[in-house]
Amino acid sequence: MSFLFGSRSSKTFKPKKNIPEGTHQYDLMKHAAATLGSGNLRLAVMLPEGEDLNEWVAVNTVDFFNQINMLYGTITEFCTEESCPIMSAGPKYEYHWADGLTVKKPIKCSAPKYIDYLMTWVQDQLDDETLFPSKIGVPFPKNFLSIAKTILKRLFRVYAHIYHQHFPEVVQLGEEAHLNTSFKHFIFFVQEFNLIDRRELAPLQELIEKLTAKECR
Ligand SMILES: [Zn+2]
Repeated sequence: MSFLFGSRSSKTFKPKKNIPEGTHQYDLMKHAAATLGSGNLRLAVMLPEGEDLNEWVAVNTVDFFNQINMLYGTITEFCTEESCPIMSAGPKYEYHWADGLTVKKPIKCSAPKYIDYLMTWVQDQLDDETLFPSKIGVPFPKNFLSIAKTILKRLFRVYAHIYHQHFPEVVQLGEEAHLNTSFKHFIFFVQEFNLIDRRELAPLQELIEKLTAKECR
């Protein structure tokens, strides 16, 4: 049976990625959580003094993956082959899955399939010690930021799909404040380090302007 249904594509909710306690990355993660609590997001996303940019981006990327995983997890029952036969973000944006490595020719698939491919792919990246080293003294690869950019660009699409196709359900579940806070943090972070191209953010441009407007004063 597992060979029919046990493939990872049937399971949308991914296990949480943990940063091991006692590591510097764990301290950084705690630092991030503490500064977030201060309420000043612009300040909270900034690279802490003396810290390594790659490590800071790595810790936050893991955090965003976990947040999106949890947020999408709350609405999976509403995101089905029937409700979302294509992976879209509003009427103007449709995504086809390709990871550029094992899947080169983009696959047109439903949103739950697409998001499953996407989250599985991200998790594989995060679990790869050569890309995301967690041990002290193991350097990040030279192209780390470009890897992180690709991951964040793809994670953005899950937010975009949730906002465009599932916002009423998010409201119904009372999760909208949670979603907005998470997305706002994500946007401030990618803006701070210029990690996602503006064109990629277009599906949520209006919302981004609204969420960031107040902080600019
Ligand atoms: Zn959906």
